[in-house]
Amino acid sequence: HETAWLNGEFLPLQEARISPLDRGFLFGDGIYEVVPIYDGQPFELEAHLDRLEYSLGEIRLRNPLSRAQWRSMIAELVERNGGGDQTVYFQITRGADSQRDHGFPDPDLAPTCFAMSSPLAPAPARFASDGARAHLVEDIRWRRCDIKATGLLANAMAKQAARDAGADEALLHRDGQLIEGSSMTLFLVENGALLTPPKGPSILPGITRDVVINLARDLGVAVEEAPLAMTRLQSCDELWFTSSSREIMPVTQVDGITIGDGRPGPVWQRFQQTLSERTRVQSST
Ligand code: PLP
Repeated sequence: HETAWLNGEFLPLQEARISPLDRGFLFGDGIYEVVPIYDGQPFELEAHLDRLEYSLGEIRLRNPLSRAQWRSMIAELVERNGGGDQTVYFQITRGADSQRDHGFPDPDLAPTCFAMSSPLAPAPARFASDGARAHLVEDIRWRRCDIKATGLLANAMAKQAARDAGADEALLHRDGQLIEGSSMTLFLVENGALLTPPKGPSILPGITRDVVINLARDLGVAVEEAPLAMTRLQSCDELWFTSSSREIMPVTQVDGITIGDGRPGPVWQRFQQTLSERTRVQSST
């Protein structure tokens, strides 16, 4: 996991260099994606590339690569890093200007494009046996959380607040509602049905969220996409966080609150089992 890709060239990660005038560095003016790789094959790549195009469009940053170029760059990066299970990270920033100025450069600069791979680390075994812990943190992020932007300071602060409280992930809340994690989508299970906040400017439209909702359809489980009051923590049977690199993570403790019976639940078990079958199946076809 040492070969990276920068502006069209593969190179050792340690040799990758960008300008300090890059707008990604100065302003967090960029968009990113994270795609999981199972057995050398990307999972849900087209959905990630769709979301990339959406995010780029929302900040008026042109996509410097075609779909075919993204696919082939990612395939080569995965191969150069030894195949198997990986997570591929890639980002596009608005490039290096001649000076620091907030407004977008005119004419357009050449965007800076970067990609790297990391090992796809399996979740700690205690998540499946005992469940993970979450810590409630007020959501202070901007009102365009639907854009997958590289400016992640509020997310980083929330994650660190969770760690400082001895928890694994932050559970963001705003105006009395549960929103999502610092880097994961929120699901509750209540009376056998899945509940998750609706898409919109206050959450990232998670790819795993769509995968889980489609799974629910196939498994005959009802899904309700609706705002979730914080009081739901007391009434729900299960709470999960989902993401591309962590799949479905069961949470059994939120600060002092025990979720359900305090063990990862049967609905989680069924969904995680089915998801892991699909990641391998889809990726090997
Ligand atoms: N919510 C936030 C804020 C995220 O950063 C992420 C992913 O990193 C997610 C949700 C989950 O999205 P996905 O399932 O596409 O990985």
